[in-house]
Amino acid sequence: WNMIDNQNKPQVVVIGGGPAGATVSTLLAQQGIRVELFERETFPRYHIGESLIPETYWVLKRLNMLPKLKGSPFIEKYSVQFVSGSGKQSAPFYFHDNKDHDCSQTWQVRRSEFDEMMLRNAEEHGVKTHEGVRVLDVLFEGDRAVGIQIMDANGEKREIHADVVVDASGQSSMLLNKLKLRVSDPSLNKGSIWTYYKGAKRDPGRDEGATTVLQVENKQGWFWYIPLHDDMVSIGVVGDFDYLFKGRGSHEKVFAEELELCPAAKMRIEGAEQVTKIFATKDFTYKAKQAAGDGWVLIGDALGFLDPLYSSGVLLALKSGELAADAIIAGLKKGDTSRAQLGHWEKDYLVGMERMRKLVCEYYDGFNFGRFVRRFPDHRGDITDLLIGDLFKDSLDKVFESIATMKSESEAMAE
Ligand code: FAD
Repeated sequence: WNMIDNQNKPQVVVIGGGPAGATVSTLLAQQGIRVELFERETFPRYHIGESLIPETYWVLKRLNMLPKLKGSPFIEKYSVQFVSGSGKQSAPFYFHDNKDHDCSQTWQVRRSEFDEMMLRNAEEHGVKTHEGVRVLDVLFEGDRAVGIQIMDANGEKREIHADVVVDASGQSSMLLNKLKLRVSDPSLNKGSIWTYYKGAKRDPGRDEGATTVLQVENKQGWFWYIPLHDDMVSIGVVGDFDYLFKGRGSHEKVFAEELELCPAAKMRIEGAEQVTKIFATKDFTYKAKQAAGDGWVLIGDALGFLDPLYSSGVLLALKSGELAADAIIAGLKKGDTSRAQLGHWEKDYLVGMERMRKLVCEYYDGFNFGRFVRRFPDHRGDITDLLIGDLFKDSLDKVFESIATMKSESEAMAE
């Protein structure tokens, strides 16, 4: 707990100390900007979202996190693998065939440990962090955000003023709710049920740390299988919210029923010991109508949440944190913290996020990775780019044209 210093008012306040908040604040502090971060929990705290994708590398590098990750016990991840409802496993998508580039590998992280590492790293870079401090509200003068109201550790309410307020409050989505900015995506109203096992099966060698996505036989859902350190595995099922949660009884019962429908997942945990309770959440896809306003910016899940299928959440948190930081740094330099300045990155970012969303929707619509790359071998690299999170280039749009072509070919065959 650092004392809040009202004499030396922060230039930027950040709500939330997850990956998005830690990223934006570290990059600001690196430029000598006075930044204070407020986190309602005391770290380490539990969080879901354990599989990173390789494009996180570039932001982690700017944050000086790479040596810490390389020295950590986190399992190295080189690929993602898909198993169809009939149990057929496609060839793994290695993130960089044949080459051992640093950036083509990433990690499976226990988020309590990863998020704490990120927050302590922020402190090392000069960010003043306040844990156990809940932000109650964002203060506005007219349309301009001017600070926050907090409940401090002694239960007292205080106001902190700043030039820019960054909302990185995750799915609490403080500003998105306050300003009624939510755009829902009813086609992706999913839910998840998950737990952890010790001693479950792992593939040998380079595939030990692969994320495996296993479709359930009835194609109503899929399992994630994420190997973590200490011989732990995170395993969870994702399906339509109503399918998983309406009228089917306890989460334990539904999880067991879904496992029966996915022999390939069940086989992997046979003989292993379940070591935690069952967790459940809704994971509805949404985004905000706008990423910034005068004096405020949204990043990470506070800006938008995308279905967990391709493990893109932490990447998007890091990326939006980086883009927002650069916009704030430039804005503070020229005394411009308007919406146009703080949110100039929003359009390109949302286009990239939309590419990932489209790939998610294709999967739920029956897209088969193996079949696609056999039909369009030239697109293998583009699919890998999408899966690693290299989303921000227009050339990838051709993939979706080819997916449409393949769909019309199969329709023609069926007639
Ligand atoms: P968070 O990590 O949620 O951090 C927000 C922080 O803000 C929290 O620490 C919270 O305590 C704090 N906070 C909230 N309100 C306040 C307040 N009022 N005052 C102060 N502090 C506050 N992503 C991946 O990359 N890989 C995966 O494999 C993956 N799997 C997922 C599986 C499921 C089922 C779900 C639901 C998500 C998954 N995600 C995954 C997504 C990932 O969890 C998020 O995208 C990521 O955590 C977003 O980071 P963030 O910093 O925006 O938010």
